[in-house]
Amino acid sequence: MKILVINCGSSSLKFQLIDSASEDVICKGLCERIGIDGSRIVYTPAGKDKIIKESPMPDHNRAIELVIEALTNKEDGVVSLDEIGAVGHRIVHGGEKFTKSVVIDDEVIKAIEDVSDLAPLHNPANLIGIRACQKVMPGVPMVAVFDTAFHQTMPEEAYIYGLPYSYYEKYGIRRYGFHGTSHSFVSKRAAEILGKNAADLKLIVCHLGNGASLSAVDGGKCIDTSMGLTPLEGLIMGTRTGDIDPSVVEFIMKKENSTVADVMNLVNKKSGVFGLSNDLSSDFRDLEDAYVAGNPAAKRAVDAFVYRVVKYIGSYTAALGRVDAICFTAGVGENSGFVRKLICDKLQFIGATLNEEANKVRGKEEIISGADSKVTLMVVPTNEELAIARDTYALCK
Ligand code: AMP
Repeated sequence: MKILVINCGSSSLKFQLIDSASEDVICKGLCERIGIDGSRIVYTPAGKDKIIKESPMPDHNRAIELVIEALTNKEDGVVSLDEIGAVGHRIVHGGEKFTKSVVIDDEVIKAIEDVSDLAPLHNPANLIGIRACQKVMPGVPMVAVFDTAFHQTMPEEAYIYGLPYSYYEKYGIRRYGFHGTSHSFVSKRAAEILGKNAADLKLIVCHLGNGASLSAVDGGKCIDTSMGLTPLEGLIMGTRTGDIDPSVVEFIMKKENSTVADVMNLVNKKSGVFGLSNDLSSDFRDLEDAYVAGNPAAKRAVDAFVYRVVKYIGSYTAALGRVDAICFTAGVGENSGFVRKLICDKLQFIGATLNEEANKVRGKEEIISGADSKVTLMVVPTNEELAIARDTYALCK
């Protein structure tokens, strides 16, 4: 079966067409600037050059129409419309309602709407994507795959905040965690690579990309994760603060005479390694180059990022009681031997040692721990689209 995977944002839409049998990507692409001037679709059929088509996209319906046109046109299309057997949608927030992927029906759409106040930037866009696909591909089964679902196994002591309990009861304020599809995919794959049963393993997954989060996975189940009610909590990220004292918000508002919205923009878009490096870059490639060249602002940003990761590894080691393997994934985790080394060099407290030769790997599965290491260190590339396609196929075959 050919599965169309859709990741729909407010002004962009990423897609991949995946063959469920071979798990090959048949075509992948992106619609940019939906609802804005200058919109275009960029896509790459497998084995061919990238194709860019400028085309007005006043809304997501038009974007989905253009995706279908890209996939099915006579010139460079890769399938006929009736070959697309199912659509898998990435949904950011499933609240407490969704603990696994589900086939989309009216009830599911209503439930995704109901938790939209927990992800006001993401869930409405995800719903627009679902509705646009329903319109353009009526009758094709669709599946919702939630970023939060994998983390629903966390015990209450890990997900509850130290607020009056009524705020959890009234508003659902708690830790949910994100990147769940990635944490799930990587932890399962790590067990396969190690040739062990997931039930016997205690893992820490470090998803280090522009957004970054850690999870503690015990026997295949998430027991804690660093992102919270929203993806702002936890690690220092590309442009997000991660953990800060909530009083900082009020303090900045008073000092700068700014609004809550201003400060939320600051902590989401202008902070993290970007802000710490005096706006040098949120991209670790730039920061790494500047760090090596002796730039103190880049060093400050990367060192703070690394310290926070190590601190979380320490706390998750305590939460797990033992750690068998630490997995690095996402843009930085998969590609930056430099950042991995800075992190791993601080892990002697758990007896971890790094194999510097193996650590040169980029974007490939590799065990990077030394022969004497008490903890396996490994690079496990994530593949959220494949995970979504697998769940979609499992529910629609
Ligand atoms: P992601 O959010 O997982 O797509 O990761 C994107 C981030 O990965 C970029 O902002 C870069 O900081 C980082 N990245 C990608 N490639 C490399 C690389 N070769 N070395 C260091 N960082 C990288």
